[in-house]
Amino acid sequence: MPTPLRPSLSRWDQHGREHVVHIHKAGIQRTLRCGTCGWRKAAQFLPYLPWLKAEAHLMEAHQATVNPAAGRA
Ligand SMILES: [Zn+2]
Repeated sequence: MPTPLRPSLSRWDQHGREHVVHIHKAGIQRTLRCGTCGWRKAAQFLPYLPWLKAEAHLMEAHQATVNPAAGRA
């Protein structure tokens, strides 16, 4: 599960490359922007929703599923 309220979400692909989606405030919405491919999307600011959309993009577009924070204390 992604961590809400962080301004970005990063995942690594199987080659160890990092892909980051930045999450910006835009009024009552949040705007997502992928640092790798420039993908943009608006998301309602509901709990977890922007982060889940960011995670889904990284998985589908970049096959980036490794959470760099996983396993760290
Ligand atoms: Zn992307």
